[in-house]
Amino acid sequence: MKAVQYRKFGGGPEVVDIPVPQPGPGQVLLRVLAAGVCHSDLAVMSFPESAVPFPLPLTLGHEGVGEVAALGEGATGVAVGERVAVYGPWGCGRCAVCAVGRENNCPHAGRLGIFPPGLGAPGALAEYLLVDSVRHLMPIGELDPVAAVPLTDAGLTPYSAVKRSLPKLVPGSTCVVIGAGGLGHMAVQLLRALTPARIVALDVSQEKLDLAAEVGAHEVVLSDGQAASCIRELTAEVGAEVVLDFVGAQATTETAAASAAMAGDISVVGMGGGALPVGFGRLPYNVSVTQPYWGSRSELAELLALARAGAVHAHVETYSLDRAPEVYERLSKGGVSGRAVLVPNG
Ligand code: NAD
Ligand code: ZN
Ligand code: ZN
Repeated sequence: MKAVQYRKFGGGPEVVDIPVPQPGPGQVLLRVLAAGVCHSDLAVMSFPESAVPFPLPLTLGHEGVGEVAALGEGATGVAVGERVAVYGPWGCGRCAVCAVGRENNCPHAGRLGIFPPGLGAPGALAEYLLVDSVRHLMPIGELDPVAAVPLTDAGLTPYSAVKRSLPKLVPGSTCVVIGAGGLGHMAVQLLRALTPARIVALDVSQEKLDLAAEVGAHEVVLSDGQAASCIRELTAEVGAEVVLDFVGAQATTETAAASAAMAGDISVVGMGGGALPVGFGRLPYNVSVTQPYWGSRSELAELLALARAGAVHAHVETYSLDRAPEVYERLSKGGVSGRAVLVPNG
């Protein structure tokens, strides 16, 4: 089968031919219908070998939707042909954290060698994908696979971040969304669907700002050295109760710190290598800073329900699997609008 792999440190994604995997006990084989391309893959491919906890080659792709092609021995609960979304941050499945569905926070997964598909385990940028347990599969029902696949990360990660800050997103509050790309354009819609907050979107690209406005941002601001003072002005000097930074570069974490209101929440979601110093005098009083990682299983189920209700729509650009190297190149230059989705069996 065709697959997109990261094969050697310092290299780029390559389209290769590898054997179709066979499901072992408890596993499920999916025929991939859609796979999303996330900016985190570019971050992983930029890391030195010492910072990558799994061996290469790696089949990329941690957003996947597929149809069940075959069941391994003892795998029950899904039927061949059923269309499912893959919950990506696999945990051990047995600890107290996994028991409440927060497998993204499982403290044992790394030590046990359990990695998400596309971030250690073979991923979804391939014609077929092996999933270790039926537990990681969620039925998508009537949702279109291409439209649904960004929900598994570009939707789930901001959903989880927004949910955490819901108590602060009351009428009259402001939420700043930094970076209106794959995750950010979903964040704007999630804020619209779940809160009455005023949404201020920041980006360096006018096209991304236009997309943010189109999907529901009340204000858009160019992300530069003046952005924080602009946000202070828009909020009568109060600042934003919640700041979601989907870039995480030094410049954007500084904007986040300078934009937050007292007792606000800052979530640094992006992997841009920036740092946000916490300590007396560094941030407004009582600000909480979080570094989110993906979301829980129950949050993915909730988000799929929200999408079925028509409240969120990912903007997608679709491509064949062969075009993956070009798609990653475009993504690295900020050239993708919304989410790029590859259709391996199209
Ligand atoms: P993307 O490339 O689709 O979007 C990034 C957006 O940020 C683009 O619109 C770009 O124009 C904009 N941008 C770049 N520099 C900017 C700046 N200085 N100020 C404002 N906007 C700027 O990327 P994505 O797939 O949406 O991922 C966003 C980030 O989130 C990445 O760093 C990715 O690694 C990270 N991520 C984290 C998690 C997590 O669990 N923490 C999950 C998924 C993605
Ligand atoms: Zn991702
Ligand atoms: Zn666990």
